[in-house]
Amino acid sequence: MEIVIDNLVAKKGTKVSGYVAVPKTELKMPVTIINGQSAGKTVLITGGVHNAEYTGIETAIRLAQEMTPETVAGCLIIIHPVNISGFENRTMSVVAEDGKNLNRIFPGDRDGTTGDKLAAFLTEVFFKKADRFIDLHAGDGYESLTPYVYYVGAAKEEVVSEAEAMAAAVLVPYRVKSYLATSGAYNYAGSMGIPGILIERGGEARWSEDEIKKYQEDVKNVLRYLKVLDEPMQSPACKQLEVVDAVYEEAEITGCWYPNKKAGEPFLKGENLGMIKDYFGKVLQTCIAKYDGIVLYQVSSLTILKKSPMIAYGKIKNDGHHTNEKYKK
Ligand SMILES: [Zn+2]
Repeated sequence: MEIVIDNLVAKKGTKVSGYVAVPKTELKMPVTIINGQSAGKTVLITGGVHNAEYTGIETAIRLAQEMTPETVAGCLIIIHPVNISGFENRTMSVVAEDGKNLNRIFPGDRDGTTGDKLAAFLTEVFFKKADRFIDLHAGDGYESLTPYVYYVGAAKEEVVSEAEAMAAAVLVPYRVKSYLATSGAYNYAGSMGIPGILIERGGEARWSEDEIKKYQEDVKNVLRYLKVLDEPMQSPACKQLEVVDAVYEEAEITGCWYPNKKAGEPFLKGENLGMIKDYFGKVLQTCIAKYDGIVLYQVSSLTILKKSPMIAYGKIKNDGHHTNEKYKK
């Protein structure tokens, strides 16, 4: 089947790359379509919905360069990156023209601001062509995280179970179910019936060859699960654990942030996970763990901003084998 997006026409067995214009804006997104020789699922892969999350963006760029129609069953549509104006203005993950966080405004609005139009274009053109969706993220420029994957949880049962199976194929230690049905790109796609995941790997506006290799393997393993790549699936280094009851704590006040744990580090209920202080060392806010858990991500810049993320953590689902018991003194 031929895939057509704007001026890009990918006949069966071909690969095309180029810029795709976002209607009624100045934006042009780099897009690659790899239309496989044999039939299979159409998978949308996006990097740079958040433009300072470079590991996700570079992984999308590499996949676009390296994947070929000869090895793909079905089709890959890769956007690398989505928020092109944010990338070229080096904003911290907001659309340059309107300051909006693209992953909070789906399904978008074709008559809204630039970010709204970009979201609407993805919803109306790209999501409609996709059977599955893999969205590549990282910690933002001021965030550190442990590698993990979100999967769509607020959708039809068969969409949720397929999204969870895709998440289980990602070679990261933790998966987290998301309960949002809108605002995020993969969340909204889920409500349209498209099983989707959001991978978090890397952060702090850095990237390295080692991380990009791992990130590409994450994506390829999902493509193996989906039979888009005809290769045996890789088994993860350790069993992937489900993280539940995630807590997303925001800063109540602007100040200096002093975390006590590292991303991925376990803690016990009642532990002090970090503090916000003023410029004179006075404690303004303390973050106390609500239960035994692990840190998913946290701010890593000294600056912390009022009503913005501070730390996110979760609880490892107790399947009888994995508890924080061993960390107790
Ligand atoms: Zn992100």
